[in-house]
Amino acid sequence: MSHKPLCIAHLYPDLLNLYADRGNIAVLRRRLEWRSYEVEVAHVTHSEIPDFSRYHLVLLGGGSDREQAIVAEKLRACAPAFRSAVEDGLPVLAICGGYQLLGEYYQLPSGEKVPGIGLVDMVTEAIPDAPRLIGNIAVWSDEIGVIVGFENHGGRTRHGHRPLGRVLHGHGNDGVSGHEGLRHLNIWGTYVHGPLLPKNPALADAVLRDALAYAHLPDHLEALDDRLEHEARAAFVSLRMNEVAP
Ligand code: GLN
Repeated sequence: MSHKPLCIAHLYPDLLNLYADRGNIAVLRRRLEWRSYEVEVAHVTHSEIPDFSRYHLVLLGGGSDREQAIVAEKLRACAPAFRSAVEDGLPVLAICGGYQLLGEYYQLPSGEKVPGIGLVDMVTEAIPDAPRLIGNIAVWSDEIGVIVGFENHGGRTRHGHRPLGRVLHGHGNDGVSGHEGLRHLNIWGTYVHGPLLPKNPALADAVLRDALAYAHLPDHLEALDDRLEHEARAAFVSLRMNEVAP
């Protein structure tokens, strides 16, 4: 195909890189290349300033509290440009620590609040002595179907948007609401690592369709042979969560 490349920005891969979150980039790239799209991946480290006018999709992974505090400062410095691109439709896939920083603040276990970028109406709080929310997770999304993966977070998140989905197994945003993740504009926020996309190809394609539309590229994605991905999902579901139907 002789179209311009789709440009994916991986923000702060040197800091937000828990649970092989970078695998999500590999999936996005390959699913585009299998359909003959050109792909460019910008790995934007914390010593660089992101150029949001270049990107068609932004990915933020998960991170430890220490790394999140550094990233929060970096993100706040470029928040106006980030916000205006997202309001124009720039898609964002934000996972766990990266997801938390899109909100008003992320509260550390010490009680201190790390200000986020206020891109969404959301707060993440620490509950003293409460356990971390850890384990395999399955979520029902009306847009995608069942999303599977792994979560590990101390923060409890509440927001005023629609969730990505409803928790079938695991904890999700706060362990009590039954909500997981967030959808607003073209933002996909979630606590699901794993990494997220290898076992959830329908979600990968939904995010790619948003990115292609934003880039004014053809966004009709032909079906791929996802048998391996579906086997991985089925194995995950049957081994880890017998109570959740695939
Ligand atoms: N440090 C954050 C928390 O514990 C996010 C962790 C993560 O990205 N897995 O809530």
